[in-house]
Amino acid sequence: MQVTLIKASADSEFKKYKASMGGPPQNIFSVAATTPENIQVELIDETVGMKVKYNTKSEIIGIFMSTPDAIRAYEIADKFRKKGKVVVLGGLHPTFLPDESLLHADAIIRGEAEGCWEQIIKDVENNVLQKQYKQDEPFDLSKLNPYPTNIVNMSWYGNIWSVVVGRGCNHGCRYCVVNPFFKSCRFRPIEHVIAEIKQCGAKLIELHADNLIANRDYAISLFKAMEPLNIQWMGEATIMIAEDDELLDWAVRSGLKYMLIGIETPSKEALESVGKGFIDVDNVKKYVKKLQSKGIQLDASFLFGFDAHKKNIFQRTLDYAKEVGVDECHGVIMTPFPGTPLYRQMKKKGRINTEDWSKYDCTHAVFDPIGMTPKELEDGTWWFDVEFHKWQKKNKKVPKPPVIPPPSPNRSTNSSQSSDSLGSVRSMAFTNPSDFKWRTFLALGLIATSLFMNWNWIWSVFFLYWAILDIKSGYTFSVEPISRNENPILYWLIIILWLGLAIYSIYDVVINLYVDWFYLNL
Ligand code: SF4
Repeated sequence: MQVTLIKASADSEFKKYKASMGGPPQNIFSVAATTPENIQVELIDETVGMKVKYNTKSEIIGIFMSTPDAIRAYEIADKFRKKGKVVVLGGLHPTFLPDESLLHADAIIRGEAEGCWEQIIKDVENNVLQKQYKQDEPFDLSKLNPYPTNIVNMSWYGNIWSVVVGRGCNHGCRYCVVNPFFKSCRFRPIEHVIAEIKQCGAKLIELHADNLIANRDYAISLFKAMEPLNIQWMGEATIMIAEDDELLDWAVRSGLKYMLIGIETPSKEALESVGKGFIDVDNVKKYVKKLQSKGIQLDASFLFGFDAHKKNIFQRTLDYAKEVGVDECHGVIMTPFPGTPLYRQMKKKGRINTEDWSKYDCTHAVFDPIGMTPKELEDGTWWFDVEFHKWQKKNKKVPKPPVIPPPSPNRSTNSSQSSDSLGSVRSMAFTNPSDFKWRTFLALGLIATSLFMNWNWIWSVFFLYWAILDIKSGYTFSVEPISRNENPILYWLIIILWLGLAIYSIYDVVINLYVDWFYLNL
């Protein structure tokens, strides 16, 4: 049997943000990891531009989505159902709006997919598929399988690999989907995390947890175990990591280079109203400086639309962001996602002004704010983002490696919307000083030699080497990346071209040798 796993992604600011982040999405990759070995898996991540293949031979199509991608996911689901495929929907949106999702699916998964997905495959085989699948208890992370490196090409994700460390958070911010989805805060056994980091071989890792420092003792033990691995990593935590010298010290020693943090707003009243009063607004500047002095780049999000926000909040936040001096920041609208206490509260009060899910991309005011109109909220958020980046540019704060800003001035915030977030960093921004690139030096030496000595046969070695690498990886590159799965004809044309050029270079050498020999013996 073959199954297709699709991460649906509508064309929106949310998609641009996701694409800019790198790092594999948690949902389809954790489902791929839990799929029995005798089942073939086809992965399609629309976020990175992969195209859905409707003529697939897969029997089961699993489509995973966040709320802004729900309409796109339904469109894909409906097409596959017309073709007679078994369609299963999972992710945040079906978890919180099961009845709506079931209109477009044969079955849905509510909550974590592990355990449910394997059962669905069995039930399809036995023709006893149920409508809804849900685990009674949060998934035990000691049973989590590593991501299947054999079917995921890291180049899709800027060579950033993601290793799951934990799920859930010890806080309960009212706008956040993390705890309504994961139910409890748990971490994976440290030896499993270390083994997966070693196995994947990446030098830049996203340690995936909704709040890495939710369990201080665990975090310190993990960082200690990571220190000898000599990697660089990024992750999400609260700014309060700066309060704890021992924790911060071990994080830095283990390779922490980039952190996604939610500073959210300079308004204490606003933070307290959503259960995020633990952020010490008055000391944020001190914390930011402390983290930066340790070589950690900070990407902060600022949220707009709290009930405590008045029209002057945009200017006030801009002044605050400049003063605090984060490396990168983005203004987004605090969005009441289905499943959150904030959504329920606003729904009850009749403040949700649209349930067009495509607008839940954090750039649209999908609710009626109190201190301004929805239009003022949208315009003000946009203005903040543009003004901050103008100021950042003027003050020569960009480019400032390793931060590479996302392509869009607006984007969604961190854990509040997505359980697969990651900082907007590309792997090429990171270098490991101890990782001596001897192959590149050797290649440069060979190219110089070939030019100097007019040895064209060296090019045949290069063309052959590139062809072999591309055949092994399933990807090739001429002027843009080409996938064997996505564009097989183009892919093989380029491989044939490399092989043809290799043969031509050898042929050229042989002909020249023959001509030389011929004239010598004339
Ligand atoms: S927003 Fe961040 S700190 Fe708050 S509950 Fe979600 S993950 Fe935890």
